[in-house]
Amino acid sequence: MTPAHAADALRAAGLRVTESRTAVYDALREHPHASAEDVFGHVLPRLPRASRQSVYNALNDFADAGIARRIEPAGRSMLFELRVSDNHHHLVCTRCGAVRDVDCVVGEAPCLTPSHDHGFAVHAAEVTFWGLCPDCAAERAA
Ligand SMILES: [Zn+2]
Ligand SMILES: [Zn+2]
Repeated sequence: MTPAHAADALRAAGLRVTESRTAVYDALREHPHASAEDVFGHVLPRLPRASRQSVYNALNDFADAGIARRIEPAGRSMLFELRVSDNHHHLVCTRCGAVRDVDCVVGEAPCLTPSHDHGFAVHAAEVTFWGLCPDCAAERAA
């Protein structure tokens, strides 16, 4: 699970604890599946002197250190989240871009087996389920 305090998570990952990293971590915890630009928007109110570059750097440091995961739905901005300990998948709304987590079917990677693995030793499967979120589906029906 995600540690309760940003500083603990950063230290555990071997990252120096800085104001901007702490603010970015807290923003990601409150807003999972956020783009770097979204995170910057969430960080600014609590750290007005944060630069866009410091936020982007923190996100990349987190991902490289394994405490954040990058997800890249085709044709959309790269998104970040702190849920890294499992092989979960995502539902993405084709209309508004809402993202929801979907648990791995078997509980560990890879949760899907290709019909033909062409000799690959498969270690992960990332699935994006595309569709309309309930809000968008309701709007379309109205
Ligand atoms: Zn939607
Ligand atoms: Zn997720």
